[in-house]
Amino acid sequence: MHYEKLVETYEKLESTSKRLDKTHYVSELLKSTTDDMEEITLLLQGKVFPSYDERKIGMASKLVLKALNIATGTDADQIMKSWKKTGDLGNSAAELIKEKSQKTLFQTNLSVSKVFTNIQKVALIEGQGTVDKKLKLIAELLTSAKPLEAKYIIRTVLEDLRVGVGDGTLRDAITLAFLDIPETIFSKCPRCQKLMPKIASCLYCTEDLPKIKESGEDRVKYNLLLEAVQNAYDMTNDFGQVATIAKTKGLSGLQNIQLSPETPIKVMLYQKAKGWEDAFERVGTPAAVEYKYDGFRVQAHGKDGNVKLFTRRLEEVTKQFPEVINWIKQDIQSNDFIIDGEIIGISKQGKFLPFQNISQRIKRKHEIEKMVKDLPVVVRWFDLMELEGKNYLKEPYSERRNALAGIIKENDNFKAAEQIITDDIATGVTFYEESIAKGNEGVMVKKLDAPYKPGSRVGYGVKIKSTMDPLDLVIVGAEWGKGKRSEWLSSFILACQDENGNMLEMGRVGTGIKEKAEEGTSFGELTKLLEPLILSEENKVVKVKPKIVLSIEYEEIQRSPSYSAGYALRFPRLKEIRIDKPVSEISTLHEVEDLYEEQ
Ligand code: AMP
Repeated sequence: MHYEKLVETYEKLESTSKRLDKTHYVSELLKSTTDDMEEITLLLQGKVFPSYDERKIGMASKLVLKALNIATGTDADQIMKSWKKTGDLGNSAAELIKEKSQKTLFQTNLSVSKVFTNIQKVALIEGQGTVDKKLKLIAELLTSAKPLEAKYIIRTVLEDLRVGVGDGTLRDAITLAFLDIPETIFSKCPRCQKLMPKIASCLYCTEDLPKIKESGEDRVKYNLLLEAVQNAYDMTNDFGQVATIAKTKGLSGLQNIQLSPETPIKVMLYQKAKGWEDAFERVGTPAAVEYKYDGFRVQAHGKDGNVKLFTRRLEEVTKQFPEVINWIKQDIQSNDFIIDGEIIGISKQGKFLPFQNISQRIKRKHEIEKMVKDLPVVVRWFDLMELEGKNYLKEPYSERRNALAGIIKENDNFKAAEQIITDDIATGVTFYEESIAKGNEGVMVKKLDAPYKPGSRVGYGVKIKSTMDPLDLVIVGAEWGKGKRSEWLSSFILACQDENGNMLEMGRVGTGIKEKAEEGTSFGELTKLLEPLILSEENKVVKVKPKIVLSIEYEEIQRSPSYSAGYALRFPRLKEIRIDKPVSEISTLHEVEDLYEEQ
């Protein structure tokens, strides 16, 4: 496909905030996609790697500026001026290319795969001359780009596409494009015959669309189709694959997708219970009650003697934990499995340590053996998704846990999560206290007959932790410091999310961050993490892409009209950086409201 065609869709997507319109535009594009489905589905979300692939484009704005300078011949100051004016390097690129193009003629048509390949190469280049090679790849694209193409190339390179295609929109669009949609759920334009979700008028000829009465039966059928696409995605994490299967094999193809050890699947998430009564009410009794360990989630895949580990962000961490790989090879009695558990730090005295003690092991790429010795870990497994070619996602939890117990040869370092089965609150409370005394965070209470739902916070399990637990918030902005702190970002603007994933600001944090790196998380470290994410700057305040998640402790939650969340934290202080948590899993406004009510 020509990149220009994708850009036309980007423009339409950018022009509307309505989810139904977006769904239609994406579905039309997918229908006309033939062999580059993988690239198109990724680029629609501004990505060149699937979400489980740890590689990032990681090109800083400064370098992009230079690429623009090479491609257009415009000097850096002028580009900077334009950037300040538009507040968006993508729009500046479009303007600059437009000026240049009045002087030259376009020679080539950019293809989607050319753009995709060049941007992906930017992320892959390592070693000598990296910067020059990256510049060349981007400048090459910009030299052949038309103005609007340049706008989206730049935004993609900066990992800031802003056309608002979330996972939900892609799922709905695939359903609309390729499955047999029940008649009363969608409208067909009488003039141009295009099928679109129920909206007032046709998106093309503005003709009023017929008002159709939705049938309850059709709605149920439609929800089943959406669920089939969602399930397929949760198992593969690959919209390209899901779209291709939907297109070529329809619903039955989607229903027959198998789990494959080697491709991570999204982990099941849990809700928070208000207390024991609430917990038992939500999961039913008797329930499984387990220690809630304060480590990080790990998914292990084994196939023919090959073992891989993934975090809950689906990033691969196999190399970082050689001891865990050895234990799995020795003590898991199977050659084909996917299991779910927690890696936890442990002190010399054998006590569980909080996550922050081992967080550095996740990113560590060198001196691994030293890390294994200095920061020892243990593993506790709590679920099983696949075993010997059998998909266990639909099996009840009690069965999955039995199957898990059947393949683990247990020892102190490596075993199933501590568990009791009970319907009695007093027994639960005693178990909770025992768990806390061992250094854990609380307990999980799980529904015994529930399936495994990848990727959703469905309430098949709930957590019980103490109420003043830290909130997980993402940094959306920061302010440069003054005086001796002027080299550092020193005050960090935090946000939670609403149910649509919109970021809602709820105050700033500066406390708990150190001046010296040896003392803990430092201003220097945060500045280094945030600099490549800067989107704009005004009066020393920068806006950054929401990526860095912090665990924030506080005294109290207060109502506050000054922030978009409507709440602010009293005395917020940094507990730790949560490098294992994706932005999609930060605290929700709903949780904040509940905590506010509870205090
Ligand atoms: P939270 O991070 O507060 O949403 O809590 C959920 C996390 O607790 C999971 O993603 C796991 O990493 C962790 N966890 C610790 N122990 C367990 C357990 N027994 N069962 C499930 N999750 C657990």
